[in-house]
Amino acid sequence: MSADGFDELRAALGGRLLEDPESLIAYSLDSSRAKPGGRPIGVVRATSTEDVSFALAWANVRGIPVSVRGAGTGLSGGAVAYAGGLVVSLEAMNRIVSIDVENRLADVEAGVVTADLDDAALAQGLFFPPDPASARWSTIGGNIATNAGGLRCVAHGVTTDVVAALEVVLADGRVMRTGARTRKNTTGYDLTSLFTGSEGTLGVITAATVRLKPVPPGEPRTFRASFDDIEDAGRAVTAIVSGPATPEVLELIDARSVEIIEAFHPSGLPSPGAAMLVGQTVGLTAHETAGAITEICRAHGATETEISASDSLLEARRLANPALTAQGLRVSCDVGVPVAELATVFRGIGEIAERHSRRIAVVAHAGDGNLHPTVEAGESPEEYAAAELVIDDITRLALSLGGTISGEHGIGSVKRHELPWQQDAAALDVQRAIKVALDPRGILTPGRAI
Ligand SMILES: Cc1cc2nc3c(=O)[nH]c(=O)nc-3n(C[C@H](O)[C@H](O)[C@H](O)COP(=O)(O)OP(=O)(O)OC[C@H]3O[C@@H](n4cnc5c(N)ncnc54)[C@H](O)[C@@H]3O)c2cc1C
Repeated sequence: MSADGFDELRAALGGRLLEDPESLIAYSLDSSRAKPGGRPIGVVRATSTEDVSFALAWANVRGIPVSVRGAGTGLSGGAVAYAGGLVVSLEAMNRIVSIDVENRLADVEAGVVTADLDDAALAQGLFFPPDPASARWSTIGGNIATNAGGLRCVAHGVTTDVVAALEVVLADGRVMRTGARTRKNTTGYDLTSLFTGSEGTLGVITAATVRLKPVPPGEPRTFRASFDDIEDAGRAVTAIVSGPATPEVLELIDARSVEIIEAFHPSGLPSPGAAMLVGQTVGLTAHETAGAITEICRAHGATETEISASDSLLEARRLANPALTAQGLRVSCDVGVPVAELATVFRGIGEIAERHSRRIAVVAHAGDGNLHPTVEAGESPEEYAAAELVIDDITRLALSLGGTISGEHGIGSVKRHELPWQQDAAALDVQRAIKVALDPRGILTPGRAI
């Protein structure tokens, strides 16, 4: 199928417009359980801001829906293609334009892979603080569009905390720049923050200026603490986060997730009674800080603790999502709770599992109070529907504790029905008004995120 004026798009983009069936399928999906509504008409594999601008202006005139795609590692169905729509892929815009050491800034195109930026920064004694477990695949544009979190966020905040400026293509093809290269900037509305976390609904991010931090001196340490009771692990996290010993990473992996990760990629991860905390400390006092943290864990019931110079524990944590996916376990969520509520939310998840007679595997960016419970369910639509009810219960539980329906993955299409559970009618209206103001024809990622 092709749209009116498609030849014009072909002529302008040449080989950068993909139309072969394999590409149409490959660029239709993300890593979530959302399914595309049908085939898109083409994939714009942009290599410049001009390509993106031309494609959006073309689609806008014709009212053609556009899905925006970085690496497709998203877990909320935000990048999934529309039937008869156009896919705009940023993956080929992957140039690290500069690392500005004196100002601790990096200028990048949106398709730069997160870990590639981190590596380039490391070569200059700097690092890119957000550290999603998908860093080896995800793009900076995707991280900004989802306001991604990750392992180091407990110490450094989430993506929005490091975005200084953006280049954005608006729905009608106009190119806009937000922010500044300065530490401080209070000029007009904070449009950089508005586009951060906008999930492809307000504009296409083509380039960004992001903040880097200096690599701390000394040798990092990783630590592990095993618990026979997951609620104890939750109380230990609350005590750690509210105390003076700041970890760089503080993650939780429950016993079921450890089992699944070990089956996927055996690394000798010891199986805990109920859950383990794994984390990292950095700086000249890394060993002492790790010692103070494992002490807190013991005081809260840890049965075994370990401090090590190797980061294999964190590598195992990074494998959680691929390991669960390999088992066909895709029905998960991304709720957040205030850290003081961790023990309560873990107890509640246990009760929900019992009530639904379903196993629930939990990994968590525990230091941020951000949980990824995954419901064990088969691949049939009935099984998915049953698992979704479990996720709904977990989400309502998190909200009842003052939490959020999404800590870091965004809403996309998968969580859209949950939005009114958290946001009041006025907040929903304001978001719709912003959307209409920036994308009056509703071509950009329509029907998702807000
Ligand atoms: C193994 C694994 C581990 C993960 N771990 C984490 C984690 O620790 N923390 C975390 O936050 N997430 C994690 N995720 C989810 C995912 O990696 C993040 O959401 C990531 O930020 C998505 O980046 P992407 O380039 O793949 O974006 P995509 O999946 O391509 O897109 C995600 C959303 O952003 C929009 N978008 C993408 N690029 C642009 C752009 N340039 N301009 C405008 N909109 C755009 C899309 O339309 C879509 O709505 C994980 C996923 C996997 C598969």
